[in-house]
Amino acid sequence: MYKRLCISLSMLIAVLAVTAQAPEMNFTVSVKEPSTHVYEVRFECNGVKKEWVDVKMPVWMPGYYQILNYADNVSAFHVEVPGGDTLKWEKANYNTWRIYSNYADRLNISYNVKAVRHFVATNYLDEERGFIAPTGMFMHVDGLINQPVTLTIEPYSKWDRIATGLEPVKGKKYRYSAPDFDVLYDSPILMGNLEELPSFSVKGVPHYFIGYKPGQFDRQAFINDLKKVVEAAVDMMGDIPFKHYTFIAIGPGGGGIEHLNSTAVSFDGTGMNTPESRKRMLSFLAHEYFHHYNAKRIRPIELGPFDYDKGSRTDMLWVAEGITSYYERFCLKRAGLITEDDLLKNFENHIRAYENKPGRLFQSVAQASYDTWADGPFGRTGDDVNKTISYYDKGPVLAMMLDFKIRHETRNKRSLDDVMRTLYKDFYQAKRRGYTAKEFREVCEKTAGVPLSSFFEYIYTVNDVDYAKYLGYAGLTIDTANKPVPGAWLGIDARAKNDTIIISAVDWDSPAWLAGVRPRQVLKAIDGKPATMQLLGEVKNKKAGNIVKLQVEQGGVLKTVPLILSTQFTRSFTIGKTSRPDQLQSVIFKDWSRINP
Ligand SMILES: [Zn+2]
Repeated sequence: MYKRLCISLSMLIAVLAVTAQAPEMNFTVSVKEPSTHVYEVRFECNGVKKEWVDVKMPVWMPGYYQILNYADNVSAFHVEVPGGDTLKWEKANYNTWRIYSNYADRLNISYNVKAVRHFVATNYLDEERGFIAPTGMFMHVDGLINQPVTLTIEPYSKWDRIATGLEPVKGKKYRYSAPDFDVLYDSPILMGNLEELPSFSVKGVPHYFIGYKPGQFDRQAFINDLKKVVEAAVDMMGDIPFKHYTFIAIGPGGGGIEHLNSTAVSFDGTGMNTPESRKRMLSFLAHEYFHHYNAKRIRPIELGPFDYDKGSRTDMLWVAEGITSYYERFCLKRAGLITEDDLLKNFENHIRAYENKPGRLFQSVAQASYDTWADGPFGRTGDDVNKTISYYDKGPVLAMMLDFKIRHETRNKRSLDDVMRTLYKDFYQAKRRGYTAKEFREVCEKTAGVPLSSFFEYIYTVNDVDYAKYLGYAGLTIDTANKPVPGAWLGIDARAKNDTIIISAVDWDSPAWLAGVRPRQVLKAIDGKPATMQLLGEVKNKKAGNIVKLQVEQGGVLKTVPLILSTQFTRSFTIGKTSRPDQLQSVIFKDWSRINP
């Protein structure tokens, strides 16, 4: 009975295998006339036999949490079946093309993609190079994101090189494969006459750096440093989860985006010859590289499977971005490329940036994560008062505090490094999924061996942060004393345009702010005299308590505003060392700021 059942089951499977052939997805992207900034895409979609087929273009790129409306760049959408019959289609919604395929087995879809914005999250094409942001180039069949896919690139005839993390198909020039669309979407592509810098291997895994006009600098010295940075990250995490990694340098601009086994970074070699800007560049590359662990594999549960139609919101970007920003510095420090002083200065800067924004009174770091889709990657700009913060500022500071707390509670037996390794092992490797906020906290508390309620309050509230307590665990001090800024405080920044003085910023809670002065108003007069930049500058020579009368204009309405000058107070947040650290403080600081052997 048992045996017979087995036979009939295997027969059934054989029959199913013949009738239900797995769908097959093949793309070809051609660059014929790069000066038109248009890519021509052909999408062979076989084996999806349905009355109609919905194909979709994502609206965002994972790693860049903004809606990018890629479908706007699509034109000349066309579908036919082999033999040439054209199929009817219509837009079912903003990013969905519904093809009335009437159970046809093979669909030949074609469309053009306009590529004019030079940025790491958008497609770009000109006579010199092409960059493919895959979520903005490749459509997928609704519900079939898990299908394997191949890609053939037909680059412009004058180009000789393609850089991508995709797996090349052996024996086929410019042909690549991906096990599913998530991998395709996570593999940007740069093509042109590119330059490949010397490659290097870490634990036997090759790392490439390929770029468009990477500029003038000592390639080998730079690659030697980059290798040390990569080694520091790998040394900490212990595992390399891919067969090769590519730094894709797209040319001038700003920003970078992390991907599974590559990163697309703006890079044109600017500043590579001065030590300070070179450290900044290495730190930026360390950030993107560390992301292949933290964000791509150790990830908030909301960040995969992705919602390509709407975007995926999480309140845990303070971990995915903030902790990555924390470790980018340690990759450099442990590689011996920055000093102890550089490290501490970096945290001072983050603390100052956070503390000097009124947003700290309004938005928690968890809210900043969740609202980044509306606020922008670094918080809002352009509002009269910025009620947002950046998780790139508060995140790394919280990471430092958490690290010190764990080290303190475990007598430096454990650290945030252990949290990251545990998350990698338990969630990425074992459970193959992201962590929830609750699970993240559980791992932290298990590592520390104590409840961490007062620390986690800082994540979900806008409570004042007790830096001194946490820095003290490593024998560090911080100057949080309020000190008066010399001169009287008005609180206005302005710029002159021809003879007009336009108010560009007003300090929140300053005398000008409290009197109702706002950015974009025109400053007409100060104490009855026509306003000039010089006159505005002289206000600070007055005394706190003096009265100043400003005349401002907005929308044709003039008003005179009397206000009382006051004194501005600031805190330096300078980090120092206590003169007599105890043994545990010394051990913690020494280990925290170590250089790898
Ligand atoms: Zn990042």
